[in-house]
Amino acid sequence: MLIDSNQVEHNSTLKTDLCIIGSGAAGVTLAREMKAHGDVILVESGGLDFNMEVYDLNRGSVSGKAWSATMASKKLQYMYLQTTRHSFFGGSTNCWTGFCRPLEASVFENRAWIPHSGWPITRSDLDHYYPQAAILCEVSEQYAQHEQSDGRQFKFSSDLRPAKEHKSPPTRFGIKYRDEILQSKTIRTYINGTVTNLICNAVGDTVERVEIKTIAGNSYFIEAGRFILATGGLENPRILLNANKQHKKGLGNENDVVGRFFMEHLYPKVRPGLTALSAVRWTGNDKFDEFGIWTFTPEVRKQHALLNVGIAFESTEKNEAYQFAQSVLSTSKAIDYDSVTNDNTHYDSIVTRARLHIELSPNPDNRVTLSEERDKLGMQRLNLHWQFSELDKHSIYKSVDLFALELGKSGNGRMSIGRLSLLESFGAHHIGTTRMGNDPKISVVDANCKMHELTNLYIAGSSVFPTAGFENPTFTIVALALRLADHLRAS
Ligand SMILES: Cc1cc2nc3c(=O)[nH]c(=O)nc-3n(C[C@H](O)[C@H](O)[C@H](O)COP(=O)(O)OP(=O)(O)OC[C@H]3O[C@@H](n4cnc5c(N)ncnc54)[C@H](O)[C@@H]3O)c2cc1C
Repeated sequence: MLIDSNQVEHNSTLKTDLCIIGSGAAGVTLAREMKAHGDVILVESGGLDFNMEVYDLNRGSVSGKAWSATMASKKLQYMYLQTTRHSFFGGSTNCWTGFCRPLEASVFENRAWIPHSGWPITRSDLDHYYPQAAILCEVSEQYAQHEQSDGRQFKFSSDLRPAKEHKSPPTRFGIKYRDEILQSKTIRTYINGTVTNLICNAVGDTVERVEIKTIAGNSYFIEAGRFILATGGLENPRILLNANKQHKKGLGNENDVVGRFFMEHLYPKVRPGLTALSAVRWTGNDKFDEFGIWTFTPEVRKQHALLNVGIAFESTEKNEAYQFAQSVLSTSKAIDYDSVTNDNTHYDSIVTRARLHIELSPNPDNRVTLSEERDKLGMQRLNLHWQFSELDKHSIYKSVDLFALELGKSGNGRMSIGRLSLLESFGAHHIGTTRMGNDPKISVVDANCKMHELTNLYIAGSSVFPTAGFENPTFTIVALALRLADHLRAS
């Protein structure tokens, strides 16, 4: 059933067993899973389509030291916060690209050279849920064979191994699963309603109801036995921090961890190098439902104290390719551009760019806090403070170095390290801000995604990841949502 929040009686209180806040990849997955297990309310800030006034609720500020001179000159540490997510039914899956890959086992481990690494669960705890996530994200079941051997034709040393990202169509969760959710007799979906406050019992350890406001001025409450915050990695901490009337530091934030440890993915590009044609063929130029990435083995990462980094090849702009070809190949002969670009099958050399997929470190100083400015519904806006650590920089430069060495040693190509230039690009992935852990002093939720300080408030989404891996997050968001549903059904 679909209900516009503006039609709900002003100041009234709705009752349900389970209230899911947010209808992105996590919220839709949870609603589907829980619909046969009691009465569910799904609340969504936006409508069924984009709305500029709702988009503006996500505006915020960014502080920190810029990553590079280019960023500094643009006075930009990060993208504008409202452009990194979509706020209507289906959430950011309305605009995601769809790259999917499970997190590899090492991401869950405590890696001694990465402070604050280590999850309270292991990769095997998610193995059961990834196949179901593949179905929901419409990813080929081949995803499980991501380490298969076809990348081996390059004969890199065993320090490097081929991996793959698989491609969702991309599944728009708000479209693909709309009918199923809206036609369900047990799910009531309230759109155009933003949760602005979480209100607890007198003791302060149980959420009794949430307050919902609409841009048009209506407001009402929802009372539930259990609540799930599934509003994305920036709004999850923002809602908790805004709930600061009963809990001065914000809800579930006695230890001042909510909003800390923000992580993203960075995709810097290394300027052109020359590689064998077959390398680029494998990276998916002719088959876009998957593309190849190279990663170092966990042993190499440990030896060089590296965060996880994936490296993919991608085509270059004509000018970039031409300039590189001139500098590397130039003889007295004029260079024929077609002989060095990837369109041409008659030559065995190709100019390509390496794109890095970087895991950034969990740093408590990278954090979401509230600014003084308020949005139209009276909620304090966000400030995101973040900057790169020495470990982040070391991992990027050392990985490029090691990769270039491998490329040369193996005879697969050359990389122009002397001209290394990191161009900025981010993933729009918001990770770590309500991290999972066993110790409430440095985490917000437990291994079941329940908040340590609350009896009935759960969190879904990449904000619970303690570390990011280099993989895109949504596949794991869905797997974790399926696991949370299992837990809720069992308890
Ligand atoms: C351009 C782009 C490309 C991307 N490409 C990829 C990719 O290739 N692979 C990948 O893995 N990931 C990708 N992502 C990230 C991916 O979209 C997110 O990881 C995923 O959508 C997060 O799911 P979620 O359910 O946690 O949150 P969201 O999808 O952000 O959904 C949260 C929902 O909660 C609602 N909400 C927020 N606050 C409130 C409130 N107070 N009350 C009620 N409702 C609220 C929002 O309106 C929204 O609908 C991309 C993102 C962008 C922006």
